[in-house]
Amino acid sequence: MKNKKGIRIAIISTICLLSACGSNSMTAQQSDTLVSSGVHTAASYASATAAEPANTAHASASPVSVHPTSSTAMKTVSHPEAIDVLVNKQNKLPEKYTPADLVYADVRFTFKEKIEKRKMRKEAAVALKQMFAAADQDHVPLAGVSAYRSHARQKAIFEAYVRRDGEAKARTYSAYPGTSEHETGLAIDVSGSNGRCAATGCFAGTKEAKWLAQNAASYGFIIRYPKGKESITGYTYEPWHLRYVGKTIAGEISRKQLTLEEYKAQQATSS
Ligand SMILES: [Zn+2]
Repeated sequence: MKNKKGIRIAIISTICLLSACGSNSMTAQQSDTLVSSGVHTAASYASATAAEPANTAHASASPVSVHPTSSTAMKTVSHPEAIDVLVNKQNKLPEKYTPADLVYADVRFTFKEKIEKRKMRKEAAVALKQMFAAADQDHVPLAGVSAYRSHARQKAIFEAYVRRDGEAKARTYSAYPGTSEHETGLAIDVSGSNGRCAATGCFAGTKEAKWLAQNAASYGFIIRYPKGKESITGYTYEPWHLRYVGKTIAGEISRKQLTLEEYKAQQATSS
């Protein structure tokens, strides 16, 4: 028989297993809301904070600090502002980095509030608007679920999970601060306009997922965590997580069925 905590962890894992996405942006309580409603409600997103995960045995434990010794395998990227910047479990953004050109993406979102996670870097936001317009024309209306996430917010979320589950466990489902692509302002989780299956496994195979797989590269976006490349990206398949890299690179990555890791490795050896 699972205890309460075990059940709660299972729920989170189901929602965004090993994800760079959803689980990071939701507390356990919000995940429960998601499961019970099946939809990301405006309220659950608006209130998405780094609040202590609810009703857990460790909820009142003392604050933790995340020790750099546990991230010795990580390099800090030298050009965090580069459009093709590689951010993953081995390459993190500098502690103080905030993108200089964040704007509110002028597209439909699954929530109404004008909050941080509507933001993207300017170039990505412009491309996103064009892509959403094209999807509308094809009668596959899309909605943004979560775009930019500040380093401070990622850190607070991660530390709340560490307090609850310990760092080793937290790392299996939540991105270490500085390693979430959402901190670049170049990534966004996308769903259909009804918000169903937002940032969850059931988005795979939907007409929206198929449309994105076919068309995103034309607007400079890649499906960042493709199926079958888990050992390279470090993430399970996330058909909803798009990363802007610009049309040229997106075209090449899509055509050759690469990951950003593989593309960057090829660039390094050919230069
Ligand atoms: Zn994501």
